[in-house]
Amino acid sequence: MSQAEETTTSRVGQLYDQMAGFESDNFSGDHNMHFGYWDTANDTWPLERAEERLTELMLEKLQARPNDRVLDIGCGMGTPAIRIANSVGGEVVGITVSHEQVKRATARADAEGLSGRVSFRYADAADLPFEPASFDAVWALESIIHMPDRLQVLREIARVIRPGGRVVLTDFFERAPIPEQKRAVVNKFRSNWVIGPMVTIDDYPRLVREAGLRLVELSDISGQVMRRTLEGIAQRIANDRKTIDASLGSDMADDLSLSDLIEVWELGYLLVVAELPADGT
Ligand code: SAH
Repeated sequence: MSQAEETTTSRVGQLYDQMAGFESDNFSGDHNMHFGYWDTANDTWPLERAEERLTELMLEKLQARPNDRVLDIGCGMGTPAIRIANSVGGEVVGITVSHEQVKRATARADAEGLSGRVSFRYADAADLPFEPASFDAVWALESIIHMPDRLQVLREIARVIRPGGRVVLTDFFERAPIPEQKRAVVNKFRSNWVIGPMVTIDDYPRLVREAGLRLVELSDISGQVMRRTLEGIAQRIANDRKTIDASLGSDMADDLSLSDLIEVWELGYLLVVAELPADGT
């Protein structure tokens, strides 16, 4: 790994270490750390429900079978992994570059009586500490957004998944070039949240192919995800501003607020489904 990549990984780890403490200390919620999904314009459910809905959508796409062994890359506080284990059965291994998340996600799986089937460990997606073909399915919910080298991560996924196994992931992408006057907002977001290089939707078929995977679905789901999530986060921060200021400091609270992004429709959200060909083609 290059030095720049190592620095990125440790900055992501620091960000989520800090968030992990804040999340557990202040919120009794479900600790999902991803954007929400509203199927239609008429769906008015709150962000918390929409976050769970995105997990459900990915579960539908994953098509995992009972007793499958699933790798969750970028497991956050463990909520999606616990959900996968409860829906699919089988075993889920979650990885993250935040030691605090490993600790807290492990405690949550234990509390749910899932410690035999759901485990978490510190590992970098660019260098997975797993045997070839040791997973039936791989899941990466809004984690590849932070990673400096998507192709390397996809290659690692292709190495650890069994032939015929599925990968489902979400990513940010540029739907259109970011106009000059919106660049400062996007750059601030990328720097505060340690977001990796941006891609376009047209980069994905090549990335997936070069990693040795076969593309099953590539969907621009920005319309179902972006605006309402950003509005929901802005609302959440406004509601809890005092607590957030007290525990993270008002500078950090300002940094984490994403309300400026609401007008940046050029920033989109992508759902990617791929599989490792069973026949080596
Ligand atoms: N999937 C979770 C968390 C999303 S937040 C959820 O939906 O709730 C992004 C996650 O990606 C964090 O857990 C972060 O530690 C992890 N991550 C970022 N870069 C990583 C890397 N290089 N290797 C492994 N995990 C990484």
